[in-house]
Amino acid sequence: MSKVKHIIFYSGGLGSWMTANKVIQKYGKENVVLLFTDTLMEDEDLYRFLDETEKDFGVDITRIADGRDVWEVFRDVRFIGNSRVAQCSHKLKQDKAAEWLEGNYASNECVLYLGIDWTEQHRKKSPIENWSPYQVEFPLCEKPYINKIDIIKELEGRGINIPRLYNMNFSHNNCGGFCVRGGQGHFVNLLKQMPERYKYHEKKEQEMRSYLNRDDISILTRQRNGKKEPLTLKQLREEYESGSQQIDLFDIGGCGCFVS
Ligand code: SF4
Repeated sequence: MSKVKHIIFYSGGLGSWMTANKVIQKYGKENVVLLFTDTLMEDEDLYRFLDETEKDFGVDITRIADGRDVWEVFRDVRFIGNSRVAQCSHKLKQDKAAEWLEGNYASNECVLYLGIDWTEQHRKKSPIENWSPYQVEFPLCEKPYINKIDIIKELEGRGINIPRLYNMNFSHNNCGGFCVRGGQGHFVNLLKQMPERYKYHEKKEQEMRSYLNRDDISILTRQRNGKKEPLTLKQLREEYESGSQQIDLFDIGGCGCFVS
């Protein structure tokens, strides 16, 4: 039996599922750890997906959590995350995973795996540097290349429904369809698909601005007359509801948990 553990950052997304699938096929389930780092703000269907895939793989998922959610982190660091600075990802995902890793395996005892795929080769550099001296591998960047449809078909063949957020036009299954790295289009989708969840985040953003006594900070920003200005979730909702043509629906942004 191999002494090296193969540790997959298992997020509940399609990419990390396929990564786990490939690594288990190659090294055997007894040599694999599926590490899930909970932000305590995940979509309820993510836990269904974790439970079903855990059973299907025959590997108990290692579930860890910082204990705070994203908004609690922002309160502690006195800053609202945005597309450039996302302390939520550092504190809740990367730091927590690093703490677990260092407490369990030395760098020569394991290999780490991320679900970045061949269309995102440019995103490999940061995790390689950040997780050093641990070795990081990206099985979905290797041939034969696999796309999302292939992954969905593979899951269907096993009788497992994909996480529901993908069917609701979200590009990932993180933080329940919320993400401070998302753009205007991402948040409009959240508003359309889950208005109550949107309103919850809208309220949290307003609370944080009051708590910090700042009206110049928000998750989203936009350029107007050559100047960058905050765009709160409240403003975005009101503009969307009034039929504004100023919203950039193609600005989706992207979650970089474990990558950036
Ligand atoms: S998914 Fe987005 S909001 Fe959630 S922890 Fe990652 S960067 Fe932060």
